[in-house]
Amino acid sequence: MKAIRRFSVRPVLPESLLPLQELALNLRWSWHPETRELLRSVDPEGWAAAGGDPVRMLSTVSASRLAELAADRGFLRRLGVAAEELRDYLTDDRWYQQEGVELPRGIAYFSPEFGITAALPQYSGGLGILAGDHLKAASDLGVPLIGVGLLYRHGYFRQTLSADGWQQEHYPVLDPHAMPLTLLTEEDGTPVRVALTLPGGRALGAQIWQARVGRVPLLLLDSSLAENDPAERDVTDRLYGGGSEHRLLQEMLLGIGGVRALRAYCRITGHPEPEVFHMNEGHAGFLGAERIRELGEERGLDFDAALRAVRAGTVFTTHTPVPAGIDRFPEELVARHFGPDAELASLDRDRLLELGREPEGTAAPGGQPTAEGQPSPFNMAVLGLRTAQRCNGVSTLHGTVSREMFSGLWPGFDSSEVPIGSITNGVHAPTWTDDAMRDVRAGDMSDADLWQLRREMRERLIQEVRERLRTSWRQRGAARAELGWIDEVLDPDVLTLGFARRVPSYKRLTLMLNDRERMKRLLTHPERPVQIIVAGKAHPADEGGKRLIQELVKFADDPRLRTRIVFLPDYGMAMAGFLYSGCDVWLNNPIRPLEACGTSGMKAALNGCLNLSVRDGWWDEWADQDFGWEIPTADGMAADDPQWRDAVEAAALYGLIEEQVAPCFYDRGGNGGPPVRWMEMVRATIDRLGPKVLAERMVREYVGELYSPAARAHRELDADAARELAAYVERVRREWPGVSVDHVDSGEEPPVLGGVVPLRVRVALGGLDPDAVQVQAVTGRVDENDTLADPRVVPLKPLGGADLEGRWTYEGELTLDRSGPFGYTVRILPAHPMLASHAELGLVALPSMEVEQVPEHEAGVLLR
Ligand SMILES: *Cc1c(COP(=O)(O)O)cnc(C)c1O
Repeated sequence: MKAIRRFSVRPVLPESLLPLQELALNLRWSWHPETRELLRSVDPEGWAAAGGDPVRMLSTVSASRLAELAADRGFLRRLGVAAEELRDYLTDDRWYQQEGVELPRGIAYFSPEFGITAALPQYSGGLGILAGDHLKAASDLGVPLIGVGLLYRHGYFRQTLSADGWQQEHYPVLDPHAMPLTLLTEEDGTPVRVALTLPGGRALGAQIWQARVGRVPLLLLDSSLAENDPAERDVTDRLYGGGSEHRLLQEMLLGIGGVRALRAYCRITGHPEPEVFHMNEGHAGFLGAERIRELGEERGLDFDAALRAVRAGTVFTTHTPVPAGIDRFPEELVARHFGPDAELASLDRDRLLELGREPEGTAAPGGQPTAEGQPSPFNMAVLGLRTAQRCNGVSTLHGTVSREMFSGLWPGFDSSEVPIGSITNGVHAPTWTDDAMRDVRAGDMSDADLWQLRREMRERLIQEVRERLRTSWRQRGAARAELGWIDEVLDPDVLTLGFARRVPSYKRLTLMLNDRERMKRLLTHPERPVQIIVAGKAHPADEGGKRLIQELVKFADDPRLRTRIVFLPDYGMAMAGFLYSGCDVWLNNPIRPLEACGTSGMKAALNGCLNLSVRDGWWDEWADQDFGWEIPTADGMAADDPQWRDAVEAAALYGLIEEQVAPCFYDRGGNGGPPVRWMEMVRATIDRLGPKVLAERMVREYVGELYSPAARAHRELDADAARELAAYVERVRREWPGVSVDHVDSGEEPPVLGGVVPLRVRVALGGLDPDAVQVQAVTGRVDENDTLADPRVVPLKPLGGADLEGRWTYEGELTLDRSGPFGYTVRILPAHPMLASHAELGLVALPSMEVEQVPEHEAGVLLR
């Protein structure tokens, strides 16, 4: 018989065991092995059956076991110590408290997904795991962050395979009462509600679940309420499911509902109101619109002034140059959900639509230019960039790529000046470092011991692989008796490669199959074989990705190869931990430069696993021959022939494995000892790469480079200052057509190295005063097209007043400290102390005249 309803009964713990509840509900156990060990000891079998989820374990533990523990003085003592340690962790001063003054009192961090632990399956991949690591590192550092997201009643899907290797998706129902969550309630116990107004007068209500991530609260909005209509109940059904309108509603709930949930949380708990709002990708872009509404209704600010105030305290992080990662909605769909009889009724809807509109005439970020005559779509990344004064990409290379990709938003500026910086992602070491590696200072261990430890981790991985493979084959319809061969799968002494990630096409799951014969030779090499473990989920709507998985599964099904290559279904955080610690080499072969950062290789590195990767994302800046190998790429040369490119890069990959990776691993120096060079690389990876890839390093950079300046700007931009700034922007925009560089005079003397070039410039400023603008010379080396490379800015100073025609004269000097072809230009930019970048308003006036050429021989003689 099937039950028609299910619910979870929370256990009633004896009073002396109540601290167990505290320890189980705070997710710190997920990165604190001592707490985890204590919780596990409550009921080791129940712990295993619950997949290491203490809340689930506690719901099944027997009353007699609880009574036994309540009488166990040793256990009670350990419980007391653990509970006190947690309270200290939650209240002690940490890094942030010691940094002191001027730091933001609160930071809200919005993300569509959070990967914190397998026990809270609310993530699909890297973006979510990063968000989880961000919260955990913030907690460890004492950064007063509040996370805001959605609670998906089915999470992301669970993956199995059909008999012929086709991905099957399953959506188990999650019961929040059986998860590490509590409902946010008013003081009288009634659950807090936020509501959105939908077209046609319908309402979308949501309740708010709280997870505790160490010191950091995480608020998750959940629309599965009896009082909602069925369609609205399903708004938070699945992560990244559904069509356009469904997705829009999710993002409205995240952005607008999220701000309302946050306000309720701060009102009820007394938590300081956030001064900084951080959007982890564009999905939460509407949070700016809600705050513009608040400032209008509560402080009487008009749209422009409110926009300035909101931007000052907002940070936007872009995470991908791949179009599918950026949400774009038909403008009319957005228009229908805002305005008089829908959400944000008091806001000027046209102004809101403008904020998300892709710039005309430029290639849409990450996509094709909008066809002529078509209304341009509403782009959530563009909305994010326009509502945040501070923006960043997630690795140095991705910063460069993003500046180019979004340069249409800052016309007139070279992409190098587009105000998008970068902070390279990091990973949370206490989460991703294997317990066995945790205390390893590689320097204190002999090669033999470290090699032995790595072998044990490989062996543990292989046990896990065999178990998962057996389960998978049973699901694919095999009988137990047919599966004896699984005991032979993988060999603990063979070089083990891992490849696990989502399956969008740019990550090239099947690049390794480009030349199957060559791959087979690598797997079955008589002296130096390799074995490969592959995992990954394709988005349910991505048929192409599912075909790639099927291709790989069929290859791995081959009886001659199946003990050397395996595909494991249902990649997730639990499996990932085994892979990072048990593999020797982590393979990463995206199409450069589409991997914005990539973090799995960082997690592998923390465990002494070497990287074998295309120079993309983080590996582009930290690649080092002591940490692994670079797969050479053919980018730039093969843009129009992806097949040729794949073949070239795959050949390079096989060559590297054959000639460098495997020989290095199997070089046992004649005496069967550990491979000397390999161990050097493992040590270098742990000792020198490990400290760079940390989420703590990343969060400190966010605090120093983005959160603190944003909080300062937010404080300075009170209502009056915001109005003043908005008026300034309006005036500059209005007067800009009259701003021009009319004449540039650089004296008669020919330039010599070490000399100075006096500059005198005449400019028109329209109706603006000199203090509203900045007049600059920009100088540097020039290439054959007269483009300035590495330009340096020299501010020019106004001389006296305006002449009779209203023109101003500016002066300055250029120092010639480098020989060779050299050039300069002059430009006028807006200047205001509350602008974070001179490109911020996208306004610049450049001379209209042609470049004056100094004759070639003359320049050559004089400058050399
Ligand atoms: C780290 C991680 C990812 C992201 O890996 P990338 O290298 O960025 O693709 C995805 N899924 C899980 C479960 C992870 O742990």
